Amino acid sequence: MIRRVLIANRGEIAVRIIRSCRDMNLEMVTVFSEADRGALFASLATESVCVGPARAADSYLNQTNIISAALKTGCDAVHPGYGFLSENPEFAERVIEAGLIFIGADPESIRSLGNKASAKKLMRANGVPVIPGSEGAVRSVNDAKEIAREVGYPVLVKASAGGGGRGMRRADDESQLEAAFSDAGAEAFAAFGDAELYIEKLIPNPRHIEVQLVADRHGGIVTLGERECSVQRRSQKILEESPSKAVSPELRAKLSDYAVRAAKSADYVNAGTVEFVLSPEGNAYFIEMNTRLQVEHPVTEAITGLDIVREQIRVASGLPLSVTQDGVTFSGHAIECRLCAEDPERDFMPSPGTIDFVHLPGGFGIRVDTAIFPGCEVSPHYDSLLAKIIAHGRTRNEAIYRMRRALEELIVRGVKTNLSQLYMLMYNKDFLTGRYDTGILTNAPQLNLEEPL
Ligand code: ADP
Ligand code: ADP
Ligand code: MG
Repeated sequence: MIRRVLIANRGEIAVRIIRSCRDMNLEMVTVFSEADRGALFASLATESVCVGPARAADSYLNQTNIISAALKTGCDAVHPGYGFLSENPEFAERVIEAGLIFIGADPESIRSLGNKASAKKLMRANGVPVIPGSEGAVRSVNDAKEIAREVGYPVLVKASAGGGGRGMRRADDESQLEAAFSDAGAEAFAAFGDAELYIEKLIPNPRHIEVQLVADRHGGIVTLGERECSVQRRSQKILEESPSKAVSPELRAKLSDYAVRAAKSADYVNAGTVEFVLSPEGNAYFIEMNTRLQVEHPVTEAITGLDIVREQIRVASGLPLSVTQDGVTFSGHAIECRLCAEDPERDFMPSPGTIDFVHLPGGFGIRVDTAIFPGCEVSPHYDSLLAKIIAHGRTRNEAIYRMRRALEELIVRGVKTNLSQLYMLMYNKDFLTGRYDTGILTNAPQLNLEEPL
């Protein structure tokens, strides 16, 4: 059984995990970098330990210091959150070797799903549709050209280790392939220390749809519906909602079946997300599986009433899931907006600084997951996410009205944010009708304050 959890992360997700620990009557220890000495997650925990300097490589990615902090403070488990060490199989192994429970996927599952090119192979072998492209990794530009000619342009050159939209380049014809290949490889090497690439046909005007699941060690597995994540900038999600306007009950059943196949193909235990792109013709293709808690998990929590972090902790300690598939019910509609410290006038570049005033929204149907407070520092060393605002309503329109209200109430001063873009989205015609794809933010925003829903 787990009594004391070390949280190997920072910011809003550390606060989020602290909350589930408290609800489960568990103690928790957070780790922090020198830059995060005054951070909220450090003071909210039972105990907190500094694990190194500001640079993530020296602190939040410092496996030795994190594991020794866990042992020294008497923890029996480690929750990695998302990003950082959450999908690092060596870290999971080292945690387990130290006699601690890793609240995440087994190292072998992380390995077989973490390399996106080999994960695609595994899916194809298990009857999950994948996008036409290379069989595994592509070693040379000439091989890339041959495959691209076979599947037809445009193609995407993608990093096997990719994440957060990095290591991905588009080529519309053969003349663009060489540059796409070297740029994607260089970016992947810089970001992930791994330049391996694969090729995939580009699906024009796609939607990003993903399925949340949780699996335990007793053969229990539940899927918790889909999330629509097509509102993206530079292939990064900005807004997510559930259910998706593009998913019929038939498609939902199919996606759910694919997600279960994906999880079973890797003997998966933990919360996980199977991501798909959906073509305008309605065909869904697997793109990757994230073997961790996702940023947008609260959308699913809102409509199912399930605490996904609690389920993660349960299954990690060997307990069965608290629900069966028949027990999962869906209520209403939820939308999440990601508020980031970014400058809209400088192409949404990160905008770090000191927050001198904050007013967070609240009220019926609103949840805010954040770690910001007046006077806090937004460090240039880490992700620019400031807060997630989640609106829940009985209908999609009710959720939209509540999100409008929440964004009207939200005030953050001291750093530039993308608040105005989020607000405009709540009046964007394509968003309001629900007929949008991953191009929505590059199309001109359509502001019409008068139009009723
Ligand atoms: P989600 O799929 O949960 O929305 P994102 O792709 O937006 O997740 O990534 C969540 C967080 O994890 C972000 O802070 C992102 O920068 C980070 N991240 C994602 N993939 C990786 C990776 N391979 N290595 C390091 N950080 C990553
Ligand atoms: P990451 O690991 O960075 O999250 P993904 O493979 O999940 O990368 O893709 C991120 C986004 O890029 C998707 O949500 C989608 O918008 C776009 N994308 C990825 N693959 C394709 C494809 N083959 N065709 C069209 N869009 C794609
Ligand atoms: Mg992805």
